[in-house]
Amino acid sequence: MMKIIPLAHAKAEGVTRYFTGTVCKHGHVSERLVSNRVCIVCLQQKLAVYKAQNRTALLEKKRTAQQKYRLENPEKIAGTVRRTYDKHRAARNAEKAAWARKNSGRVLAWTRQRQLAKVQRTPAWLTEDEHWMIEQAYELAALRTKLFGVAWHVDHVLPLRGKTVSGLHTPYNMRVILGSENCRKSNKHEVAYGQ
Ligand SMILES: [Zn+2]
Repeated sequence: MMKIIPLAHAKAEGVTRYFTGTVCKHGHVSERLVSNRVCIVCLQQKLAVYKAQNRTALLEKKRTAQQKYRLENPEKIAGTVRRTYDKHRAARNAEKAAWARKNSGRVLAWTRQRQLAKVQRTPAWLTEDEHWMIEQAYELAALRTKLFGVAWHVDHVLPLRGKTVSGLHTPYNMRVILGSENCRKSNKHEVAYGQ
């Protein structure tokens, strides 16, 4: 049995609910709100009916509020995304590693193919300085990976093995972008953010 809290006591203590133990006009023995003396069960039922009747409008309102929040708090959203990404990183990496072990032949073939493409798409006319610039791009990717804790890749703007056109392995066809962005881009020639 719930403890009796008279309205006057609830008011004096500054709490929002009181309880008399009497039955409301709809037959509930429940706490009531100090502010308007409404039965809590009645209130919950009314709210449920209202929600059911205004489902579409309420969903729309919620969506608008979420959109507004996203626009006004980009850094908070980014933080949440980052934390979720970090949280699942270990599991994701373990899954990837297990897959790579199971498919070691395929992985090796891909790696070799990529290396070969790089060699074949590296022009003989590259100067020593240009070779140095290429190394710098890879150094930058490695540095950013270390700093940010997420993978950064050297991306070929025009893919070395594109479907229609193929780019060259030169500093002028390179940029350092997020690994996630690079993997999404794959062999398609499209503009990705980064640099
Ligand atoms: Zn009631």
